Amino acid sequence: MKQRRISKSIRIGDVTIGGGAPVVVQSMTKTDTRNARATIDQIKELQNCGCELVRVAVPDTRAAGAIVDIKKGIKIPLVADIHFDYRLALAALEAGADGLRLNPGNIGEADKIKKVVLAAKDRGVPIRIGLNAGSLPKTDNPELTVAERMVEAALEQVHLLESLDFDLIKVSLKAFDVPTTIEAYQSIAEKIPYPLHIGITEAGLPRTGVIRSTVGIGTLLWLGIGDTIRVSLTAHPREEVVAAYEILKSLNLRQHGPVLVSCPTCGRAESDVVKLAEEVEKRLQKIDKPIKVAVMGCVVNGPGEAKDADVGIACGKGKGVIFKKGKKVATVEEKDFLNALMKEVEGL
Ligand code: SF4
Repeated sequence: MKQRRISKSIRIGDVTIGGGAPVVVQSMTKTDTRNARATIDQIKELQNCGCELVRVAVPDTRAAGAIVDIKKGIKIPLVADIHFDYRLALAALEAGADGLRLNPGNIGEADKIKKVVLAAKDRGVPIRIGLNAGSLPKTDNPELTVAERMVEAALEQVHLLESLDFDLIKVSLKAFDVPTTIEAYQSIAEKIPYPLHIGITEAGLPRTGVIRSTVGIGTLLWLGIGDTIRVSLTAHPREEVVAAYEILKSLNLRQHGPVLVSCPTCGRAESDVVKLAEEVEKRLQKIDKPIKVAVMGCVVNGPGEAKDADVGIACGKGKGVIFKKGKKVATVEEKDFLNALMKEVEGL
C-alpha cells in the first residue's frame, strides 16, 4: 500500500479529518430531516454501529430548523447537505450544523456562496465541496474527460473559497463509474492540500453497491488517498457503515469489532459450514472486540487458519476442534460447534 497522502487536517465537531488521522466513517440519514424524532433514532442506530459523522439532507427551512433538535439528541457531528438555496446553508449554520456539504455549482452566483463562506468562517465550520459527475457545470473545453471536468469544477470552487480566506475545506468528486472516480481523485489529490471524502455515488443495492464501492474506495485507499469514506447504498444506512468498516479492516486501516474468517467449503466438508458461519457472524455482531474468528470446514486445511485466529474451529465429521490463540482447547460434538466457539470468543 502506498504511503497515505497527508492532507491538511480539519475538525468537524470533535472529529478530525485529514492530517494522518484515522480514516473517518460517515453515512447519511434516509429519514425526512423535518421529522427530528425519526432522524435522531436513525442517527442513534448509526452511532451504535460506529458511524463517526452523519449527513442530513436539508431541502427546506423546516429541515434546517430541525437541526437544532436533532443535535440535542445525538453524539456525533452533523453535516448539513445543501443544494441550490444558499439561505438553507445559512439557516443550517444558525441551527448548529457542524459542517456543510455544498455543490457550489448548484448555488450559482459568487456573492451567495460568499455569504455562506463568511458565515461558516465565523463559526469555524468546514465546508465540503461535493461534486457529482451527474451535476457538473458547463465547461468551455469539450475535450475534457468527465474526470477532468470534475477536477476543473472542484478547483474553481476551491479557489473561490480560498479567495475568501477560507481553508476549512474538504472535497469529494464522486461518480458512479469507478475508473472515472479514481482518475478524478488521483488528479485532485496532487493539486490541493485539503482532505478528501471518497466514495462511489449511487452505487446501488447492497450486493452490487458494496462491490462497486469496495473496488473504488479500496483502490483509492490503497493509493494512499482518502481521509473519510461513505459507502452509498440503496439500503438502510447501517449497511453503509458496516461495509465501510469492512473495507477499512480489509486494508488494516482501522480496527472495528471482530473479523470473521470462514472457508468457502468444498467436497471435503462434512458439516454445514455455511450455516455455522452465518450463525457465528450473527452472534459476532454483538461483540466489540477487534478479534479474528475462524470457521473452517475440515481437518485438512482448517487447523492452520483456525490456529492463526484468536479463536477458531476446524470442523470434522461429527466433531470439531476448537483453537484459542493457536492452541487446541477442546474437541466438541457437532451440535455444540456454535456455542462452544462463542464461549471461547466471549471469554477473550
Ligand atoms: S478448509 Fe477444508 S472444507 Fe474448507 S475449503 Fe478448505 S479444504 Fe474445503
